[in-house]
Amino acid sequence: MNRKNVELIINPPTPNMVGDGFKMHHFIPGVPQLNMHRTNPFIVLDYNSLTELAPSDHVRGVGAHPHKGFETVSIVYHGKIAHTDSTGFHGVIGAGEVQWMTAASGILHKEYHEEGFSKSGGKFQMVQLWVNLPSEFKKEPPKYQSVTRDKMSRYLIDKDLGIIEVISGEYNGIKGSASTYTTIHIYNAKLKPGAKANFNFQAEYNTILLVIEGNITVNGEQKVKTDQLLIFENKGEEFEISTDEKSVVLILSGEPIKEPIAAHGPFVMNNREEILEACNEFNIGKFGYLE
Ligand code: MN
Repeated sequence: MNRKNVELIINPPTPNMVGDGFKMHHFIPGVPQLNMHRTNPFIVLDYNSLTELAPSDHVRGVGAHPHKGFETVSIVYHGKIAHTDSTGFHGVIGAGEVQWMTAASGILHKEYHEEGFSKSGGKFQMVQLWVNLPSEFKKEPPKYQSVTRDKMSRYLIDKDLGIIEVISGEYNGIKGSASTYTTIHIYNAKLKPGAKANFNFQAEYNTILLVIEGNITVNGEQKVKTDQLLIFENKGEEFEISTDEKSVVLILSGEPIKEPIAAHGPFVMNNREEILEACNEFNIGKFGYLE
């Protein structure tokens, strides 16, 4: 076996609020070792660890803001979020579901807790990723995909010891329903006590785990706890996750996009001229209108 070894296990950095609805640990690019070049195509990973929200008549979230040049992927573990954008799309997803928004040539959107969930309050936990796009696809029109429960692909682990939910890419012949522009594997491993699962990704793919619930062991030796993130070395292909308790693990592996990255706020392009162009397009209202 050509084993993929652990490079680093990282505790969650101190969180801060995004809008008034999301208390985010900014792993990427907040942690110095996790800059966009190292983790590309995953250029942002924000994590709202498990929180208990009080009931609120005021719906919390982030108001209208632009994005250009990449995709946002929101993965909900507890609670419910709503999305509205300048193409006229409105979507709601709950626990175990995913919103995949391709901003590409530019969009405005707002991200909130769903109204009913806001009123009732309760457990809230989610991840938002930003996935970069190659330059040729930064010009595409924006689009939206939702991976709701009925569209979630599932691989059953031997002896009924859990499932691998495949959001995008492929696991042991099971394909995720989200379409991507480059090869991006995103899974949730939902494991029961005693479960073991093996994974195989190309050595050069940047590969990351985030433990959402429980505690796991990687390659039979490294312990990784709830809310810790692990990044693998870019050597070897195979690794194993095992656990003796109920655990949930987010697994990311993607082909690096070998292009320069120019990132400024909500825009991720290839150079400074394109960033200035994006700012200008936003200022003149080219991304549409959203109240
Ligand atoms: Mn956003």
